[in-house]
Amino acid sequence: MRIYKVGGAVRDRLLGKPVTDIDWVVVGATTEEMLAKGFRPVGSDFPVFLHPKSGEEYALARTERKSGRGYGGFTFHASPEVTLEEDLIRRDLTINAMAEDDQQNLTDPYHGQRDLEARLLRHVSPAFAEDPLRVLRVARFAARYAALGFTVAPETLELMRQLSESGELQALTAERSWKEISRALMEDQPQVFIEVLRACGALKELMPEVDALFGVPQPQAHHPEIDTGAHTLSVLEQAARHKQPLTVRWACLLHDLGKGLTPEEEWPRHIAHEFKGLKLIKAVNERFKAPKDCQELALLVGEYHTHGHRALELKPSTLLELLQSFDVYRRPQRFEEFIAACEMDARGRKGLEQRSYPQADYLRGAATAARSVAVQPLLEKGFKGPELGEAIKRERLKALKAYKETASF
Ligand code: ATP
Ligand code: MG
Repeated sequence: MRIYKVGGAVRDRLLGKPVTDIDWVVVGATTEEMLAKGFRPVGSDFPVFLHPKSGEEYALARTERKSGRGYGGFTFHASPEVTLEEDLIRRDLTINAMAEDDQQNLTDPYHGQRDLEARLLRHVSPAFAEDPLRVLRVARFAARYAALGFTVAPETLELMRQLSESGELQALTAERSWKEISRALMEDQPQVFIEVLRACGALKELMPEVDALFGVPQPQAHHPEIDTGAHTLSVLEQAARHKQPLTVRWACLLHDLGKGLTPEEEWPRHIAHEFKGLKLIKAVNERFKAPKDCQELALLVGEYHTHGHRALELKPSTLLELLQSFDVYRRPQRFEEFIAACEMDARGRKGLEQRSYPQADYLRGAATAARSVAVQPLLEKGFKGPELGEAIKRERLKALKAYKETASF
């Protein structure tokens, strides 16, 4: 048997990037031989094994053919006769279809190295169109390598457009899509992911609610960039620049969905877009089965981001409602993430990227003030049950009034 490094490890070494996980392909071996060498099989779908010591993935060289809709609709053929070139041709991008032996001799039948130099994400063969997930993968790689100057080759973008139009993207499972979306959002330029999906018509298929924001104007006084889609991309860009976690990035992407529902006569104003957007945020959350913390934060940011911006003007009672809605007493981290998302929203505007956001510290101070109310003295006064709850609220309101009067912002 012959063993080669393939895929990301080869690509990233040639790019001079750190290699984190290594995928291997094994040519000229049978399943029995692999098992005899102590490799452990992974699932039953594909002839993939884990190395007994390193735990890295070793796949038998295989060919694939599409036999139906979606990802289940693949038949593969693995045998000792399958060549390295045959295995590489089933891969998505030329830069991912190179292999390397233990002497670092490169096998590059589809000119991945040339495309690395040309900074092009190009499909290997027309079979690219057989797996719609590749649309998301290419957009994700575009986001990852944008800083290096990579773009999607026009002919690949055209294939992605055809795939999007065919409706095949609807056959993707929530799990496969979310895996790509979440990884893409964590890249350095997640806005490029959305831009590429939009450019090939996939955004309209996957997240029509986000796609609808492009072409919707906002008041220039607050939004010099005017376009709501452009604003959303900038917010995402800021979130990545400030190294925000996935929850915040997801919330940033979805925070203004309600603006896509505003009747044109009301443009550029978007009255109650926060509330109107909630059902759309819920739909997108559920479509991709986003993790609970992402879902929750997206809904809260959608509903309350304007409160965040107006923090300094809020009445103590409104401030208290906000803090209660976030349960800042038990969920301080989630409130921090809300503040972060609001700040990214404020900075994701043309020319305002460097503005200060005093609301952030003001909100933190308010949370501290409300949290400082001690329950013990109220218990000692004999409050119980719902009355205790009311008493705590009254004390918190008092604390917030005092805070608002004394805080110097
Ligand atoms: P990463 O750095 O994100 O791990 P990677 O290129 O290693 O990037 P993997 O998902 O680990 O990506 O896949 C390893 C290799 O398998 C890819 O380089 C590619 O050659 C191939 N591959 C993975 N998924 C697909 C797919 N859906 N269609 C075609 N080829 C794929
Ligand atoms: Mg990999």
